Amino acid sequence: MQVDYIIVGFGLAGLAFAETLERQQKSFVVFNDASQQSSLVAASLYNPVILKRFTPVWDVQDQLAIALPFYKQLEEKFNESYDDQLNIFRVFTSVEEQNNWFAACDKPVLRSYMHPEVITNQNKAVRAPFGLGKVSGTGKIRNKKLLADYQEYLLQEGRLMRETFDYESIIFNGDQLTYKEMKAKQIVFCEGFGLRKNPFFKELPLNGTKGELITIHAPDLKLDTIVKSSVFVLPLGQDTYKVGATFEHTDKSSQPTENAKKELIEKLETFINVPYDIVEHEAGIRPTVKDRRPLLGRHHIHKQLTVLNGLGTRGVLLAPKMAQLLYEHLENGISLPKEVSVERFS
Ligand SMILES: Cc1cc2nc3c(=O)[nH]c(=O)nc-3n(C[C@H](O)[C@H](O)[C@H](O)COP(=O)(O)OP(=O)(O)OC[C@H]3O[C@@H](n4cnc5c(N)ncnc54)[C@H](O)[C@@H]3O)c2cc1C
Repeated sequence: MQVDYIIVGFGLAGLAFAETLERQQKSFVVFNDASQQSSLVAASLYNPVILKRFTPVWDVQDQLAIALPFYKQLEEKFNESYDDQLNIFRVFTSVEEQNNWFAACDKPVLRSYMHPEVITNQNKAVRAPFGLGKVSGTGKIRNKKLLADYQEYLLQEGRLMRETFDYESIIFNGDQLTYKEMKAKQIVFCEGFGLRKNPFFKELPLNGTKGELITIHAPDLKLDTIVKSSVFVLPLGQDTYKVGATFEHTDKSSQPTENAKKELIEKLETFINVPYDIVEHEAGIRPTVKDRRPLLGRHHIHKQLTVLNGLGTRGVLLAPKMAQLLYEHLENGISLPKEVSVERFS
């Protein structure tokens, strides 16, 4: 079999690159195992505002302009709905925070998304004595469904191998390479935190940040928007809500822990006062980088090997633009921006 590309890993990064190739009529196959699950457990929110400090997300306008039409086209492709456009309401904890909110609302970029008023809480299940601030242009991508639909599509076409990629089976020959019975021009590694096991790119400073979430069933909560306090509460329908997330820098396993569950419950109960049951508890490792920017580019020796990683805490918004930049680099020789190129670490 001869293909243009082999993609290793099919989370948000792999999906974005596969779809970018598909739109350009390039041939590819995908290898994916279940060793990482960041994209499967992610809350998958997209939000242009950092709600801790009321500052804009890096490069957000460009990322939104590419990501939203990208997911829309996937909705058309699979005749499904993946983009739940939901506003986020930030719970204020003091008058000082309200003042900081108003100051931020005047700033360029932020003024398009942050509403300059303090909204009085009307929901008795939520505690918000200092009111709430509304952010629009926000929402949630139904990642799990999107990844499952895309994998099914690739499986039917014989383009998805559900197996671990074996680095030792690559044979380099000139501009081409061979992997087992396949010939390809390029391999793009989209392995999330799995990159740490990749002998070609393991030196890159991918630190990884573990995150855990719980799903609760709370019939009296009656929320139809996202509420963000020390954790967010995200409506999933049928009285269930995702609550998260934690940030843990030392534990690199994907196992849920009692400590994280306790932390999430304590934080949730500072602003929710109705009974609930925990119906699910999940964990994953975000592929975070030392300088909080993605990792794109070719291997310094083997130019047929490329990485697309480092999507960190914001894979939903970053993946489509990063896939596009990498494609333009590989196919049309367009230089990668310095802040995302792996060359910044060479
Ligand atoms: C708790 C939590 C909450 C999050 N919330 C959000 C959010 O609200 N919004 C947002 O934008 N982002 C969020 N994120 C971050 C987001 O999940 C990541 O940015 C994104 O999923 C990373 O995607 P990826 O494809 O790079 O990696 P992954 O999703 O880790 O995918 C990599 C894939 O490659 C496979 N793989 C690895 N090595 C190999 C190999 N050798 N052979 C075959 N397959 C291999 C893995 O099994 C996996 O399927 C969250 C993450 C976590 C953990």
